[in-house]
Amino acid sequence: MSKTIFEKIIAREIPSDIIYEDDLVVAFRDIKPQAPTHVLLVPRKPVPRIAEAAAEDHRLLGHLLLKAAEVAAKLGLKPNGYRLVINNGPDGGESVPHLHCHILGGRHLGWPPG
Ligand code: AMP
Repeated sequence: MSKTIFEKIIAREIPSDIIYEDDLVVAFRDIKPQAPTHVLLVPRKPVPRIAEAAAEDHRLLGHLLLKAAEVAAKLGLKPNGYRLVINNGPDGGESVPHLHCHILGGRHLGWPPG
């Protein structure tokens, strides 16, 4: 299987603005930001999407969410709030088949989403 663009970012094969990483996850700025702050938090393990996550990913997924909140706070988003988004499949708007959590903030975000 060929590498996804996020695997290439994690492996430093293509450039990106990485703002956090640990042994399980990597966070970098989205190349096409939809809000003043738009960061993607991805597991190093190439789980294609949340629908494909397995019971063995339990700890990884918990870590991902806790780190999303930590990264959002580090980016100064905690006082005004922010949104975490995980797109799954065509109707969800998924374009990269490597699980990722969008961290969006810095402006008021409408609801419902488009
Ligand atoms: P999704 O549509 O939920 O799969 O989100 C994929 C996201 O990846 C989009 O917001 C893209 O702008 C972003 N993206 C694609 N390529 C890159 C890249 N090379 N560096 C950073 N973000 C990227």
